[in-house]
Amino acid sequence: MKESLDKAYEPHSIEEKWLERWLNSDLFNPTFEPSKKPFSMVIPPPNVTGSLHIGHALNNTIQDVLARYKRMDGFDVLWVPGTDHAGIATQNVVERELAKEGLSRHDLGREKFLERVWQWKEKYGNTIIKQLQRLGASCSWKYLRFTMDEGLSKAVREVFCRLYEEGLIYRGDYIINWCPRCETALADLEVEFEPRQGKLWYLVYPEASGTGEIVVATTRPETMLGDTAVAVNPEDERYKHLIGKMVRLPLIGRLIPIIADKAVDPEFGTGAVKVTPAHDFADFEIAKRHNLPFVKVIDEKGYMTAEAGPYQGLDRFTARERVVEDLKKEGLLLKEEDYEVVLGHCYRCGTVIEPILSKQWFVKTKPLSQPAISAVEYEFIKFYPENWKNLYFDWMRNIRDWCISRQIWWGHRIPIWYCEDCGETIASREDEVLTCPKCGGTRLKRDEDVLDTWFSSALWPFSTMGWPEKTELLQRFYPTSVLVTSFDIIFFWVARMIMMGIHFMGAIPFEKVYIHALVRDEKGQKMSKSKGNVIDPLDMIAKYGADALRFTLIALAAQGRDIKLSTSRIEGFRHFLNKLWNASRFVLMNLEDFEEAHSLFNFDTLPPFSKWILVELDKTVAEVRQKLEEFEFDQAAMSAYHFLWDAFCDWYLEISKLYLKDPRLRRETQGVLYYVLSEVLKLLHPFIPFITEELWSKLSGNDGKFLLSQSYPTPKNLSLSHDDEKLVKTMIELIQAIRYIKSEYNLSAQRDLPCYFRSSDEKLLEGLTREPIHQEIIKFLARIDEIKFLTDKERKKGEVSVILANGEVYLDLTGHIDTIKERERLQKEKQKILGKLAQIEKKLSNPEFLTKAPEEVVAKEKASYVDLKDRLAKIERFLEEL
Ligand SMILES: [Zn+2]
Ligand SMILES: [Zn+2]
Repeated sequence: MKESLDKAYEPHSIEEKWLERWLNSDLFNPTFEPSKKPFSMVIPPPNVTGSLHIGHALNNTIQDVLARYKRMDGFDVLWVPGTDHAGIATQNVVERELAKEGLSRHDLGREKFLERVWQWKEKYGNTIIKQLQRLGASCSWKYLRFTMDEGLSKAVREVFCRLYEEGLIYRGDYIINWCPRCETALADLEVEFEPRQGKLWYLVYPEASGTGEIVVATTRPETMLGDTAVAVNPEDERYKHLIGKMVRLPLIGRLIPIIADKAVDPEFGTGAVKVTPAHDFADFEIAKRHNLPFVKVIDEKGYMTAEAGPYQGLDRFTARERVVEDLKKEGLLLKEEDYEVVLGHCYRCGTVIEPILSKQWFVKTKPLSQPAISAVEYEFIKFYPENWKNLYFDWMRNIRDWCISRQIWWGHRIPIWYCEDCGETIASREDEVLTCPKCGGTRLKRDEDVLDTWFSSALWPFSTMGWPEKTELLQRFYPTSVLVTSFDIIFFWVARMIMMGIHFMGAIPFEKVYIHALVRDEKGQKMSKSKGNVIDPLDMIAKYGADALRFTLIALAAQGRDIKLSTSRIEGFRHFLNKLWNASRFVLMNLEDFEEAHSLFNFDTLPPFSKWILVELDKTVAEVRQKLEEFEFDQAAMSAYHFLWDAFCDWYLEISKLYLKDPRLRRETQGVLYYVLSEVLKLLHPFIPFITEELWSKLSGNDGKFLLSQSYPTPKNLSLSHDDEKLVKTMIELIQAIRYIKSEYNLSAQRDLPCYFRSSDEKLLEGLTREPIHQEIIKFLARIDEIKFLTDKERKKGEVSVILANGEVYLDLTGHIDTIKERERLQKEKQKILGKLAQIEKKLSNPEFLTKAPEEVVAKEKASYVDLKDRLAKIERFLEEL
């Protein structure tokens, strides 16, 4: 034995110590040894502005469990870490900083502003990296990447130019979600929709002929200034006679046609709708079908354009009031009603978005999506849990062209130049284009926009490995093995990586996608700052240590079920770490006269409980491995947990106290203790790396090598003989039964209770009595002075009994209990149990409960039903016997 272990487990100094040693060791980086099989992952890059939240903690703990497990299991592991430049998010952070100095980005100009952002990034961009390290993430830090690194930027330009050359990138008019405050286009998923109380206005459009009129309903009257048609459903009998006629647009006087389109809902308003192609998504589509003109009446800042005539220069909301007022004056406002509208808001600043027509760059996604759909259909890529693939298919089969331009400054600037002499558009891989390849002119202007942040992250699995160069990393580690991510970015990120990977690498980017759950609060509510129910992983690490947080998250990470997290759960699992610490302390203290060279033992000659613990360990090793391979992380963790707590601590450590006292058994028992502890440390290392590394360092025979670099345990297919198994099981059952009787009668401290075990199985009795140590174990663990083994026995008055699988145990309580009082007490207890049983029966016979309650709740009720039934049977028996 090397050095003693501190009495109490104190995580912080341990965790900081090992973190430093690991980072200095180079063991997280791949070795490129040809004999090893590669295993690779890329981290979902957190925003460079980010700070570790509980979702990151879960995501990265899961990846770390896989990385450490695979590394120990002999794989050459690459886990690429990195951060995302997070266009709008980062630009906003720096703009807010500038605002404090009374400046806007326009005051600085593009170049100076970008300098500021880079300065910010140098200063704060590493925060989340340090936090990931503190969590214990064993990323291959040598390969740390940033989406705006030179190499990755080169990959972005290459991809853009190739897609452009293939005709898969184009510039076009498009109606987009626009934030007039951020002055940028927003992706559909960057818009947050919220219901608000609004109004429905009924506007009267007179027919051009002057004979009739048509009434349209709208929630946005100011957009009528940009109407280019009125549309009705072709099946709508009320309007059939009007189709093809012209109406005069009030306030503006423009003549517009009445058209028929199936998209019009006859149930909405009057069944006739105004068509504003430049400011409404549905209208944009209608206009394209009918070749209607586009009239843009609201500009990029949210003000009315010259096309809005007398309303030019007004803010869009003021214009609404004026338009309504003026229509009223002219008698063209029929009525207004309260109406709930669903408004889109900018996810960054909350401003009401404006659908707006603008020139944007697009990726044609249909040709890219087909192979990406097939890759999942044919299971080249598998989702875990499997049902997430349906969401993927749903999105991919209805995919729209991807708007990739953003009107901000921070990001990958679009590599497009426009020649001001001949009008040529030039896509280039170079940093600067000085002469026009078509006309030789030198007056070139670069496109102002940058690419959507997701454009560069779509390339992440191969751009981080050095593409477009043919690198050693790509050759060895692409495609990656597993992607671990959350469901909300399946479309944003996962789908696009699949499309880009197949298109540019000719191979899928990953073989398996594990979608983990959301972390919610203990009541199952989403965590949010406004609700005040956020659990900050950094606080939890400060309070309980990273290992406790990690183990809790993993132990709760069941597939397809959200995690309900509370500090008390973390506290609970912190006890498990104490248990591991104390068990190790016990083992280390009993290894003082032990040399590692003596650790060999012969399984066949070990006493039954030593064999049993080795078999239990073996089963646990097999189960943990299997569950890790299946991404059943909670089950893997709990399997190891129960082995350590129940089998090892509750049973074997106690029994080993007697074995160690026996000179014939001492050395081999030490060997078993040493072996089981070191295997358990290896087994648990991926889950709780810090504490296991510390405990390992205290074991002799590790030659100063990291636990991190040990081999992961493999099952040895050990088993107990039939007789040994029966003996061990009977002893455990016997001890539990005696403990049960004693506690039921409040006699736990009483040792002098005559005790008998009767069994007709003579071989079993022979086994139990052959070695005196078996009786010693029963007496020690059941806390009784004496036990007798008999083949035949009749119950005497004053004795209570419990039936076991292979016999019956009797405890003589004469003189220790008042029969009358006991009878009363047991009766009461029986009634209580019957009451509880009735309650559960009622629940379990209620079909609504069975279908609506969460699975785990139903399972819990069923389990407690079985337990109560068992207790009832025992108590009824006690009552009979009294
Ligand atoms: Zn905004
Ligand atoms: Zn030119």
